[in-house]
Amino acid sequence: NLQGTWELNNGYKMPYLGLGVWKAEDGEEVINAVKWAIEAGYRHIDTAKAYDNEEGVGKAIKESSVARKDLFITSKLWNSDQGYESTLKAFEKTLQRLDIDYLDLYLIHWPVEGKYKDTWRAMEKLYKEGKIKAIGVSNFLEHQLIDLMKDCEVRPMVDQLEFHPWLVQEDLQKFCAENDIQYEAWSPLMQGKAFKNETLKKIGEKYDKTPAQVVIRWDLQNGVITIPKSTSKDHIESNADVFDFELSEEDIQTINALDKGERIGPDPNNFDF
Ligand code: NAD
Repeated sequence: NLQGTWELNNGYKMPYLGLGVWKAEDGEEVINAVKWAIEAGYRHIDTAKAYDNEEGVGKAIKESSVARKDLFITSKLWNSDQGYESTLKAFEKTLQRLDIDYLDLYLIHWPVEGKYKDTWRAMEKLYKEGKIKAIGVSNFLEHQLIDLMKDCEVRPMVDQLEFHPWLVQEDLQKFCAENDIQYEAWSPLMQGKAFKNETLKKIGEKYDKTPAQVVIRWDLQNGVITIPKSTSKDHIESNADVFDFELSEEDIQTINALDKGERIGPDPNNFDF
């Protein structure tokens, strides 16, 4: 069921399939993508200050026929805004651009050394005030999660990480599960590289599904929230057409075995922006 949810560690429900909008241009492109997604049944949109399209996402939400309370909107705090006061300010601007009065999920985009704890204190304040329903992080590895949790009052509810068949990070998944932190996948389709993989193609043929659908289904069966990105109506619809089949345990293991520990994006231990 496309609108199915998983419960976060504070009881708030998060839809397990969402639309990612990185690199969707503000204006018509992102507005159409979000509208098509909502029409196709998506209830979860993943944006960020850094994507420069919060305004367009906000417009699409407003113009859609689905009530705000039935949508799940994520945004992320950018690196240059980290710190206590600057986080409070950046959050207000994000709300203004989206033109909504609360966020469902706010994430620290990257673990900026020396700053993420002050940032987290501001996120906790906003959470306690009810302006954000759930708070979390992105690109935090195990040691960064441990460090953050040593001093926090509210534990992160989500960690959004690069996750796809070439980068499984089983230990990190296990750590998150043990600490009740929901694992969420970014670049789930390997930014398009998934489509050419022979193993994924073969598995897809068995179920009459595309490699993209196989990977999205694999995320869901692994308990991972997933936010494939597209601005094409057809792809937005087909990426959500993953609820009428189930991968066998053997196929899941075959996909797990594609893991090469290979990143497409930056290493959270060594990023520079
Ligand atoms: P993705 O893995 O979702 O792949 C997107 C690419 O695949 C696009 O080029 C799209 O046109 C193409 N595509 C999608 N569906 C297709 C289909 N059915 N057939 C053919 N082509 C298809 O890549 P992504 O955008 O990097 O990741 C998804 C989302 O994750 C982003 O939009 C963003 O919201 C989030 N993200 C977060 C971070 C982070 O640091 N937290 C980093 C990267 C991405």
